[in-house]
Amino acid sequence: MISFFKTIWGMLFRLFPCPTKVGLCGIGDPGPDSPVLVTCNFDLTVKRLKRVLKSIDVWLLVAESKGVNVWCAAGGEEFNTHSVVSAVKTCGIEDRVTHRTLILPPRGAPGINAAEVGSRTGWKVRWGPVYAADIPRYLADNYKKDEGMKRARYDLPERLDTGLGSIFPIYFIGAMGFFIFGRNLITEYLVAGAPAFIVFMSLCPWIPGRRGITKAFFVDAVLVSTLMIIEVSLKQYISQLRLFLIIALVMIPVYGLELGGLASTMKSDLDPFLAKLGIGAVGNVAFAGTVRTELLNGYRELTYNEDLCIGCRSCAEVCPQGVWKMGKNNKAEVVNKEACTACRACLVQCKTEAIQAPRV
Ligand code: SF4
Ligand code: SF4
Repeated sequence: MISFFKTIWGMLFRLFPCPTKVGLCGIGDPGPDSPVLVTCNFDLTVKRLKRVLKSIDVWLLVAESKGVNVWCAAGGEEFNTHSVVSAVKTCGIEDRVTHRTLILPPRGAPGINAAEVGSRTGWKVRWGPVYAADIPRYLADNYKKDEGMKRARYDLPERLDTGLGSIFPIYFIGAMGFFIFGRNLITEYLVAGAPAFIVFMSLCPWIPGRRGITKAFFVDAVLVSTLMIIEVSLKQYISQLRLFLIIALVMIPVYGLELGGLASTMKSDLDPFLAKLGIGAVGNVAFAGTVRTELLNGYRELTYNEDLCIGCRSCAEVCPQGVWKMGKNNKAEVVNKEACTACRACLVQCKTEAIQAPRV
């Protein structure tokens, strides 16, 4: 029963901690040659990973992330180099396998410095596929990743899943507010807010605008225009429809503001906005004062010095947006700068300071 409630909590309150036990577990019948995968100690992530991996024999090393999911915890520096080093050194994995290779989730790259994990543990770090569903194929193909395994897609199931976990607390607080201060409008709020979320999340890749908030204002403008056209053509003032629309008009920008922070494919609008307001964290996810927020706020800028590049490929391995590619001279090249979401994974992984983020 507790496990069921933790699953529901993890799905609906994603930004808030839902920890599970840190340590080593075997999935299937792992032996000394079995791969060692590392993940965070967010209960839902561990459960989902176990489900995806149930048909293969692997070791799963659950490292401390203060009960937060990989992407948020790495961004907020809760899932970090120290948590992985500490898990490796204390879980007893060294006695159970003959190899020394860890497979880390690339969404953890903004928080975990792979080179430092290697030098402190003696283990080699590989970045696995972005999506857990690809792990069995990645392992079967002898650690080979195709392009689809390297890039974040943020397709519909992921949008609804992450969106629900992030938006639900706001939706819930709104419902409480109506329950206390405007009970006569709570039905309209509940009825208008949920479809607005589903429609916005479903259509968001096709809505004009690169940022979530821009997309939201575009949708608001379309909704207002549509209502005006309906009312003018019917020559009628439709008060009930207006009520639903006003609620949707308020909720959609809230969803839009939140959207960027959820996806590794979009820049966050919310983090720099809250940081400017002096709000430094939501739940266990910190962002104010982090390099990522300063990049988003334009206080810092990513720079690249090709002369310092040693061709280690790390930036190209971890960038969820395909900003980096290895050139013919085995030096990194910036091929898609516009797509950068300031996650800072490349910055953390670059061993030689070829990539930096000086203040501007
Ligand atoms: S280039 Fe931008 S999106 Fe890619 S890893 Fe670096 S900071 Fe993240
Ligand atoms: S820029 Fe840095 S991380 Fe990228 S290949 Fe060169 S040395 Fe490696």
